Amino acid sequence: MDLDALYRQVIMDNYKNPKNKGLKDEEGYQTLHLNNPSCGDEITIQIKEVDGKIVDVRQDGRGCSICCSSASVMTESLIGLNKNDANKMIENFLHMVMDEGFDDEMDMGEAIVYQGVRQFPARVKCASLAWKAAGKIINEE
Ligand code: ZN
Repeated sequence: MDLDALYRQVIMDNYKNPKNKGLKDEEGYQTLHLNNPSCGDEITIQIKEVDGKIVDVRQDGRGCSICCSSASVMTESLIGLNKNDANKMIENFLHMVMDEGFDDEMDMGEAIVYQGVRQFPARVKCASLAWKAAGKIINEE
């Protein structure tokens, strides 16, 4: 399997079997809704922090495979990180998809599969929507 096929596989797996999908109706979660009118993507992200650490991330919404799978990958990437590391990862993800000063030494885990999105400007917003929402929540306090 070549790298592109592997990357597509990760995206399709996360699209068909999204992780951490469905919002929580509990205290301690901060919620943000963002949409991407150019594609019709809508996403809501919830983050629960305890003592500066991200203990849970939830996602819900609808949209294209890039947007929905990226939200799934984002939740798995950020759970367990402290806010500082989460911020660095979000920033690096946005740099990666926008092709702006991406640090390829940083371990991006599964999120690396969105590296190819930079070749498709129309999909950059799809891939980054959930990550932008997470960044806004984390930095709002
Ligand atoms: Zn989209």
